[in-house]
Amino acid sequence: MTRRKIGSTECVHDGVGPCEASGAIPIPIVHSAPFTFKNTKDLIDLVKGCSQRQQPEYGRMGNPTVSCVEKRLAALEGAEKVQLFSSGMTAVTILFLAVLKSGDHLVITNDCYRRTRDFCTVFLKKFGVEVTVVSSSLEAISAAIGPETRIVFTETPSNPYLYVVDIEGLAKIGYERGLLTVVDSTFATPVNLRPLEFGIDLVIHSATKYLGGHNDLIAGVLAGSASHVQPVSDLLMTVGGICDPNTAFLLDRGLKTLAIRVAKQNANGQTVAEFLETHPKVSKVFYPGLSSHPHHSIAKKLMSGFGGVVTFTIDGGLEQTSRFVDHLKISRLGPSFGGVESLIDQVAVMSYWEVPRKEREKLGIHDNMVRLALGIEDVEDIIADLNQALGKIR
Ligand code: PLP
Repeated sequence: MTRRKIGSTECVHDGVGPCEASGAIPIPIVHSAPFTFKNTKDLIDLVKGCSQRQQPEYGRMGNPTVSCVEKRLAALEGAEKVQLFSSGMTAVTILFLAVLKSGDHLVITNDCYRRTRDFCTVFLKKFGVEVTVVSSSLEAISAAIGPETRIVFTETPSNPYLYVVDIEGLAKIGYERGLLTVVDSTFATPVNLRPLEFGIDLVIHSATKYLGGHNDLIAGVLAGSASHVQPVSDLLMTVGGICDPNTAFLLDRGLKTLAIRVAKQNANGQTVAEFLETHPKVSKVFYPGLSSHPHHSIAKKLMSGFGGVVTFTIDGGLEQTSRFVDHLKISRLGPSFGGVESLIDQVAVMSYWEVPRKEREKLGIHDNMVRLALGIEDVEDIIADLNQALGKIR
């Protein structure tokens, strides 16, 4: 297996060159709903698939700006084909709808993004798809697979514990059992991990996070072989939900600095996790770059960096934790991660407030748990800020 480096040279140059018509470096933003033809022969050639032209006749089916970004993403992820969507959830839901039918079985791991899990357990079940939610160990996944299983879906690193799945082992299981393996790689980015290199069939990203990188867009990515991605693109053309050209342009601009941003966020993540682990007001830290993390060795084996998200628990309860969060000055209180600005969220309040405490606890969401999504600010400033806010806990 060849593992490529994805550094700044690749992020700046791979997949997309200057515009052939004008020489412009940034990709052109093309606003057009219909795309016209010179004559009927031109149209028929496109329909027959024997045209040089890739652009379909209508903007719901494709757009030249979007296609440029898809090429850059395909180069970075090592994929034959990429489809860009209007959000990460559009990518997830249309993938499931394209692949699964009534009577099929899906295995999903329990620490996946909550809305992905809910879509499977609530919505897909209504349509006769059987869903089993399991822990992300290979033993649990293997045991859940049955004759009707079509997809195993997981996320790595996961949220909020940053568990790392042995995707090499998972790909082997998928191959042997003849099913589709899908990894939501949003937390990793192609800089830190490229699941396709390990034999995973499809990769999903919420491009809203690190890929865009500036907290200013919503988009989603599906990457894999053309034979796996094309049926999903075909359904997308019918139901709608491709990325709009302005968003695609912003995403393309963000991708050029992906490697330097992620390198800085990896470094910030490691330094902050080490600082927090020694702080008396912090009871537990979860970060795959720490030797105390249960998946440190598998993370070291598979990943080239451990990311910019650190989860930890405060030595206190709901109120003390809120007090800490409210006293931070650099990290703003908000959901999401992967942008240049640091964000903090008290998980029980931000994402699980409507779930009763007992239920939250069963899901491993404790009142004193916070997720710190580091940006690219200077680490000494972030640490000074964390220190002063931790000092406010009574
Ligand atoms: N996957 C992960 C890991 C996420 O964290 C999110 C959103 O937070 C999504 C998918 C959904 O992406 P989007 O918000 O772009 O729809």
